[in-house]
Amino acid sequence: MAQSKIPVGILGATGMVGQQYITLLNDHPWFEVRYAAASPRSAGKKYAEAVKGRWQLTKTYAPHVGDLMVEDANDVSRAVAAFKKGECSFVFSALEMSKDETKALEEQYAAAGIPVISNASAHRWTEDVPVLIAEINADHTDIIPLQKKARGWDRGFIAVKPNCSIQSYMKPIHALAQAGYEAKRMFVNTMQAVSGAGYPGVPSLDMIDNIVPYIGGEEEKSEKEPLKIFGCIDGGIFKNAEFPLISAHCNRVPVIDGHTACVSLEFAGKKPSSMDEIKKIWAAYKGLPQEAGLPFAPKQPIIYREEDNRPQPRKDRDTDKAMAVTIGRLRPCNIFDIRFVALSHNTVRGAAGGGILNAELLKHKGYL
Ligand code: NAP
Repeated sequence: MAQSKIPVGILGATGMVGQQYITLLNDHPWFEVRYAAASPRSAGKKYAEAVKGRWQLTKTYAPHVGDLMVEDANDVSRAVAAFKKGECSFVFSALEMSKDETKALEEQYAAAGIPVISNASAHRWTEDVPVLIAEINADHTDIIPLQKKARGWDRGFIAVKPNCSIQSYMKPIHALAQAGYEAKRMFVNTMQAVSGAGYPGVPSLDMIDNIVPYIGGEEEKSEKEPLKIFGCIDGGIFKNAEFPLISAHCNRVPVIDGHTACVSLEFAGKKPSSMDEIKKIWAAYKGLPQEAGLPFAPKQPIIYREEDNRPQPRKDRDTDKAMAVTIGRLRPCNIFDIRFVALSHNTVRGAAGGGILNAELLKHKGYL
């Protein structure tokens, strides 16, 4: 094992998102998985034994990960011991517990000196915790020293990523805002993959030959989280943006991976002159400075497909390490200004890959 890599831990390593972390980090140039934790049901087993019969991915885990002893994620002292042995510098949190339990546990890790890069929703509305989409609000990491100071934390801190449902439409509207075309109002109709519900997730009899027009809490997250991401730091806490106002309809559809969003958008003031201008803005969008050299950053964060029948989850979700957003069907809207369809991979860009990119950003900025 290369000594120069940063040793990382995964909380919830046995779950749907945890398995993605494990495989995506197989050959990561900066990070290496040396610590795995999950529920007391998995604790005390080797990782290979803990995931036997419920491995969900086509790619498998590295041999050294299969040999790791799974720890109880509720026992922070185990992670502290691993930190002291040089086996866990920070953790990715992919826990599925109650909001209060997750919130308290992630704070215990941070207080014990172990930074937490989280996928859980528990801390998204904590007023001094950044909700990061690396290309959009990298400057929100500036709150970390204030967060540490306010809580008396020395080395630890908490940074989270937003809900997977919003990933496909945040970058396109950010790119347009950067070009001077701010969004004022939007409707979004999401068609979300079953992997978004974890494993075993939605019962098969609810999903086969069917669509479920409700995902608990998802519409509120889809409408409100963008406002924090487009907001700013003010007096040591986040102040939300006022716009865009979003009306979301979130549906669970029988797709394994890849959340699709149909968006109708109204601009606040100035409007783009043509659909071609918008496509050029999206094609030119980089989001992150190239010199940062973040390994998980997509080369081109927004890909536009000209075909009438794209994007499609099966054909487009894996584009550029499954980290790019694919858009199609841009056209004028009869009620608002424009409409389009956007797609992103929910367990990669929307979960583990997004978390890894956030960690890369935090390392680049000297926080890890
Ligand atoms: P999942 O497949 O149900 O996995 C849950 C993980 O949490 C497992 O490792 C499980 O361990 C562990 N866990 C459950 N109860 C626990 C307890 N009491 N104490 C300690 N560990 C416990 O869920 P998931 O889909 O991977 O989601 C994980 C997190 O990521 C959730 O917060 C979810 O909201 C968020 N997220 C998911 C997606 C997605 O597309 N799936 C996208 C964005 C964010 P055992 O295996 O031992 O039970």
